[in-house]
Amino acid sequence: MHTTVEHTLGVTLVDGEPAPAGETARQAAADQYTVPGFDAVARLAAASLDVAMVGLVLDSGSAYWYSRDAGTGDTHALHPLYLEAARRGAGQVLPDIAADARFRDTPPLTGPSPATLRFFACEPVFTLSGRHVGALCVMDHAPRNGLDAAGLDALRDAARLAGAGVVLGGYLGRTDPVTQLPHRSAFFEDLRNRQKNGAQRAWLIAIEVAPVERFNAFVRAMGFPYADELMRAVAARVLDWMPPQTHLYQVGVTRFAAVLPDGGKPLTTPQLDTLVARLRAPFDCLDIPLTLQPGVGLLDLDVRQVDGADPLRRVMSASYAAQRSPRGWALYERSQDERHRQEFFLVTELAAALTERTELYLQYQPRVSLSDGRCVAVEALARWRHPTLGEVPPSQFVPLAERAGLMRSLTGWVLDNGVAQLAAWRRDGLDIGLSLNISNADFDADLVTRLEGVADRHGVDPRVLELEFTESTLLAHNDATRRHLDAVRELGAGIAIDDFGTGYSNLASLRQMPATCLKIDQSFVRAMDASRHDAAIVRSTAALAHDLGFRVVVEGVENRRIYETVRRMACDEVQGFHVSRPLSAAAVPPWLERPADWHHADGGGAL
Ligand code: C2E
Ligand code: CA
Ligand code: CA
Repeated sequence: MHTTVEHTLGVTLVDGEPAPAGETARQAAADQYTVPGFDAVARLAAASLDVAMVGLVLDSGSAYWYSRDAGTGDTHALHPLYLEAARRGAGQVLPDIAADARFRDTPPLTGPSPATLRFFACEPVFTLSGRHVGALCVMDHAPRNGLDAAGLDALRDAARLAGAGVVLGGYLGRTDPVTQLPHRSAFFEDLRNRQKNGAQRAWLIAIEVAPVERFNAFVRAMGFPYADELMRAVAARVLDWMPPQTHLYQVGVTRFAAVLPDGGKPLTTPQLDTLVARLRAPFDCLDIPLTLQPGVGLLDLDVRQVDGADPLRRVMSASYAAQRSPRGWALYERSQDERHRQEFFLVTELAAALTERTELYLQYQPRVSLSDGRCVAVEALARWRHPTLGEVPPSQFVPLAERAGLMRSLTGWVLDNGVAQLAAWRRDGLDIGLSLNISNADFDADLVTRLEGVADRHGVDPRVLELEFTESTLLAHNDATRRHLDAVRELGAGIAIDDFGTGYSNLASLRQMPATCLKIDQSFVRAMDASRHDAAIVRSTAALAHDLGFRVVVEGVENRRIYETVRRMACDEVQGFHVSRPLSAAAVPPWLERPADWHHADGGGAL
């Protein structure tokens, strides 16, 4: 078919002019995010090399086409030859693809139009800073002898200009500089266009790559270049899976979204399972393997009621829930959304509390020695008194802080305030230590620096401090963890294994960790009165831990009977309501003055 007007596909109007009449809205949407200037570059290349088609194929899997023969294209349905071209850092010329042994078994090369292409040449594309991002390809229907020097020069110049356009695309905020995928604004543009076209419903899909906290920890550990590479690898896997005619958008650092095509078939369960399986498969990125915890969310949207950013928020809430589900994908549910909204409210309130720092406070629970009943140390326990919600229990806000990436900030607050308080007590002559709860998110090289800094600032000897880690935190880690723990020990601070018995570790594996103290979880201890079985667990755990050289602390001792029972076991210290409930800072010094009635049978401690 001969058209009078050259038909360009995926061409950007840099200044955001409306698309010319006659173009479909979908095409206009596509125009929003292509590489600025690609149209002009492609036109020049096509004319000077006299080829039918020019393509810019990025290593993210996105592709932009210019075709003299019209036809429609997709931004990612790609022939292996294009993918290979995008990834290789050098140019190549294939005079006749059909005669090339390497491509004998692949489908014939086509562009967006089905007509077979025979001649192919490409040149790598680099950004201005020299990062390799893909290739500029030229194709023609007839085989050729190759490219002469002038042709090669023209191709190189075009590739250079295309590289500048890629940079510009990121600069103008249309595409993500890392994955080269279109941004959130293009996603909404796509939705609005559906609405204008009279669509009533649309399926949205959102993909959350990993929990924020995990991703942040990961960036801290591995650095941005690795994270960038990983996001590109994730994008490539998703693009590879995507149904035809669907565009992928990057809507957040670790988030992708797409609008499924109008009138297309809804996604099937096996399709979704496949996507999750692909994303759960380990990534081997820069030779370092990593497994993600992805969540895929789906939302059946009434397009007529699209308002603001809400559809994206809702489908993201589904992907967020999916991350924690065994299946890994989930449909949007209103009730779940409500929970997330509440959680979101709490997160923003907690973030505010961490900046204002007037609603948070600490309580201190004494830990006493079983040999004489004396207080050895107190454990700092975080408290949050919200102005309208009242006391929010730590069992609620601690996991929330963990999920929302606020844990480091919370721990920082506890460290600073707890150690400041301890310094004040010690200046007043109270000879006690302080235990601090450390969460998974705090676990990196920085931990030692933070601990050292806070001890220094308040003039406290780190040897009177002890950090408590849960056994799962300790076991989830590796050599690096081990080094951080060694550094904590070198500083002189103690290391306790908290809530022992709630995980699945055995003592022998924990022995590998340089811990000094083991706290037997209160769930075993509280039931000891009623269950001989639990008493036996506590007794044997304590004996074994003692033999392995740990100081043994028994938590959750609620009455005298239990106190007396553990006193006969190989235990060193006790913590629990029988001795004292967590106390306000002001209540600690008078409590320390009191006789140790919990320790003396005739002292009349609480029963
Ligand atoms: P945990 O570290 O095991 O702290 C001991 C918890 O047991 C405290 O609950 C304490 O009040 C409670 N408890 C102590 N003795 C008894 C007893 O005899 N009977 C009963 N029934 N309970 C007893 P709390 O303060 O509600 O803290 C709950 C958890 O929240 C803590 O468990 C800890 O995992 C976490 N948490 C609290 N503060 C912090 C913090 O500053 N940082 C971190 N990462 N976690 C914290
Ligand atoms: Ca603890
Ligand atoms: Ca505990």
